[in-house]
Amino acid sequence: MDFREIEQLELNNRSVFLRLDLNVPMKNGVITDDTRIREALPTLRYILERTHKVVVASHLGRPKDDKDKNYSLDPVGIRLAELLNKEIAFVTDYRDKPIDQLLLQLEKNQFILLENLRFFPEETQNDEAFSQTLAKGIDFYISDAFGAIHRKHASVVGVPEKIPQQRRAIGLLMKKEIVALDKLKNEHKAPFTVIIGGAKVSDKMSVILNLLNHCNHLLIGGAMAYTFLKYQGIDVGSSLVEHDKLDLVASIYRNAEARRVSIHLPCDHVCGETFSQETEAQIFEEAIPKGFMGLDIGPKTIENFKNIIASSQTIFWNGPLGVFEWSKFRNGTLAVAEAIAESRSYSVAGGGDSVAAINMARVADKFSHVSTGGGASLEYIEGKILPGLKVLSMD
Ligand code: AMP
Repeated sequence: MDFREIEQLELNNRSVFLRLDLNVPMKNGVITDDTRIREALPTLRYILERTHKVVVASHLGRPKDDKDKNYSLDPVGIRLAELLNKEIAFVTDYRDKPIDQLLLQLEKNQFILLENLRFFPEETQNDEAFSQTLAKGIDFYISDAFGAIHRKHASVVGVPEKIPQQRRAIGLLMKKEIVALDKLKNEHKAPFTVIIGGAKVSDKMSVILNLLNHCNHLLIGGAMAYTFLKYQGIDVGSSLVEHDKLDLVASIYRNAEARRVSIHLPCDHVCGETFSQETEAQIFEEAIPKGFMGLDIGPKTIENFKNIIASSQTIFWNGPLGVFEWSKFRNGTLAVAEAIAESRSYSVAGGGDSVAAINMARVADKFSHVSTGGGASLEYIEGKILPGLKVLSMD
């Protein structure tokens, strides 16, 4: 797909609807990681140098309704205003009142931030009237919300459809994401290693099957490893196993064998008796005894994984290798993040948890690309047609 880029638009004082992904992690109204805000700055600065008639829109989490103030974008607006040294007109009632008049009244040092789009069900329903209201008085639509392009929502699809095709474009961050993921898909050098962790085999099944066409090694960690180990006939105690997904695992093995891809599973495990932060951590090799569950990969597995990572030329990583939220069970995930950072490979990571672990290990700058989109990056790599990109395509 070919896209019009922001630099190709004549923005001179015209109005712009900018869809960003400002879906930052928050605890009690405080932003705990502002990566997504900082990643949005280059595009926002570029636009504000050319026009101040800017409407910034984003979702935040999954609020039940507009009374769920834990999901307000207000703290994000305060941070944006600080970083840009601008005033923000924070608008909450835009569903019923189009912001076209407000745009005309904006002063030079101000721009508009809309309250969380998902406060209105019309956003996820891709409601026609809602899209129409959002697009009223808008000349250009620009998207930098890579993390949302797989969603057929009003601000992602409905609004750009209301703007003439030649006035829709991708922003600087979106371009960076597309270039990096295309390089991974189309120009990867062997050995290509894919590392997949996280909770469920089912969520990542199609991307695994797709990547088997390209990679040489598949490293599996996280809870999903126990469904693979169970399939191999290894006892996994009370670890999470998706019994109804054993046939999916069988098809992964069949495909891997046909394509000569080596699958590497954990050979030792850091286990607990209960799924809790307080449980005592104990290491077991091969089988996990009754009454214990695997919560992280063990030291021998870390060594095996590190060796494969060190000899790889291309690496893609998605999903934690253990319950990295708890300090006793985060060694595997941090060790993998550090090993990838030390390798000389072309390295791409995606997914909120992997990105959080990379930030914890302070190695983000050593990765070739850290994607801001979890689900979106997986679907992009799978080659799916993503609604938020299709609507921006010039093809
Ligand atoms: P996902 O969204 O599928 O990438 O899954 C991420 C979640 O998987 C994180 O919250 C981890 O705590 C969890 N996780 C990783 N390893 C395990 C494990 N061995 N047992 C239970 N949960 C796990």
